[in-house]
Amino acid sequence: NSRIFGRNVTKVYKSRKKETLAIDHVDFDILENEFVSIVGPSGCGKSTLLKMIGGLDDISEGAIILDDQVLKGPGADRGMVFQTYTLFPWMSVEENIRYGLKEKKCPKDKADVIVNKYLDLIGLSQFRKALPKELSGGMKQRVAIARALANSPEVLLMDEPFGALDPQTKANMQLLTRKIWQKEKTTVIFVTHDIEEAVYLSTRILVMSQRPGRFIADIPVFLPYERD
Ligand code: ADP
Ligand code: ADP
Repeated sequence: NSRIFGRNVTKVYKSRKKETLAIDHVDFDILENEFVSIVGPSGCGKSTLLKMIGGLDDISEGAIILDDQVLKGPGADRGMVFQTYTLFPWMSVEENIRYGLKEKKCPKDKADVIVNKYLDLIGLSQFRKALPKELSGGMKQRVAIARALANSPEVLLMDEPFGALDPQTKANMQLLTRKIWQKEKTTVIFVTHDIEEAVYLSTRILVMSQRPGRFIADIPVFLPYERD
């Protein structure tokens, strides 16, 4: 089971001139299967916290624990999706999705099955040979989600994933994200400043205060639909 929790998690950005306290001694506890949105004003520290969970930024004080292991650096147990698509531009859609499987030396026939499953899930099977530059924003973001899921992460971390998309595409991507969460039963931590999006997608909303980031509310959300 993939309970993820943080104790006393603190982030201080240090430069020669100044220190910025971005996250101020935060505790959190996220259970398996939850879809948690982190909301709060711009600059409050949402991305910083997500990056620390993803292992992309070190923790100044405190610890984050996933499955009883103190996190140190990134790992395949956490898939990440960012606002900017961060696909490998020289790799096809298919190669992007396959990347993590290749890294962990997954046998080709097994990897083929996984890649096909996620191509189908995101509706881009016909675009498997396309390069990222040939895709629309929404399509690129779908590939980024598939690439993250192909590694079967314990937790999917999403940082304003639809912030750069037009409203119609955004709505489509929200539906797809909900479908994936229902189907894959993965834990999701989703950063957004869009409260409507948070209410629509999550089972729980953590509200962060102005910098330095602290959690000021923890709100359960009633899902108006059945989970498979
Ligand atoms: P949010 O995601 O809620 O908009 P961030 O986590 O990006 O907020 O930023 C939180 C605070 O930390 C902000 O004051 C921001 O300026 C500061 N910050 C973020 N990244 C860095 C960095 N690499 N160096 C220094 N300060 C940073
Ligand atoms: P965006 O996500 O930026 O709105 P879409 O995903 O809607 O873009 O797709 C952009 C274009 O690609 C549209 O013209 C759409 O018809 C086409 N397209 C998207 N997905 C598929 C697909 N699975 N098969 C065929 N065409 C597709």
